[in-house]
Amino acid sequence: MDPISQLADLFQRFPGIGPRQAKRFVYFLLRQNGGYIRELTHGMQELQSRIARCAGCRRYFTNAHNAAAQECAICGDSARDSALLMVVEKDVDIEAIEKSGSFNGRYFVLGGTISVLEKEPEKRIAANELFRAISERAQHSALKEIILALSLNEGGETTAAWLRSQLAPLVREHALTISSLGRGLSTGLELEYSDVDTIQNALHSRVQDSETHHRE
Ligand SMILES: [Zn+2]
Repeated sequence: MDPISQLADLFQRFPGIGPRQAKRFVYFLLRQNGGYIRELTHGMQELQSRIARCAGCRRYFTNAHNAAAQECAICGDSARDSALLMVVEKDVDIEAIEKSGSFNGRYFVLGGTISVLEKEPEKRIAANELFRAISERAQHSALKEIILALSLNEGGETTAAWLRSQLAPLVREHALTISSLGRGLSTGLELEYSDVDTIQNALHSRVQDSETHHRE
């Protein structure tokens, strides 16, 4: 295969990129100078060498200072409240919530959502990893509340409902509370596009599952 088609094939694997756009990327690169190409290549290599996935929350973080570090700055921060665990879909959701400055607990990145028809949810999202994390934290770090901060769209709601049913035994065993973000978040809008005030409101007005609430 010629280098143009070869590279276009690689670009086509990007989310939302079709064959024509992939070709346009290649021709764009052909018109750039050597400096740009070097910077791009270097940037991609840096992703491999300096970015790691956090063993605690599963988000990607820059492992710049200590190559042996397994955890991101948020997970490594002992001042954060280990009683609260917020489950989000993707890394950028953490950035949005951190920017709102209204949450001081821990996070877990699920890596996506599932659809109603999903036959093997645990292969699509990091569900087993989440169950393990909750179980460990309930035993060793005083976890009390799991906040499901998923999108208010079909995928987010299906995922939240499935997680609730799967988490029921753990919730009972460790007397945990499950809550979800409250009013203010627009239906269909993803967390990452919500503004700071909206996120603050949604967090302050978060709703606990009535079932778990009554048991307390
Ligand atoms: Zn982390």
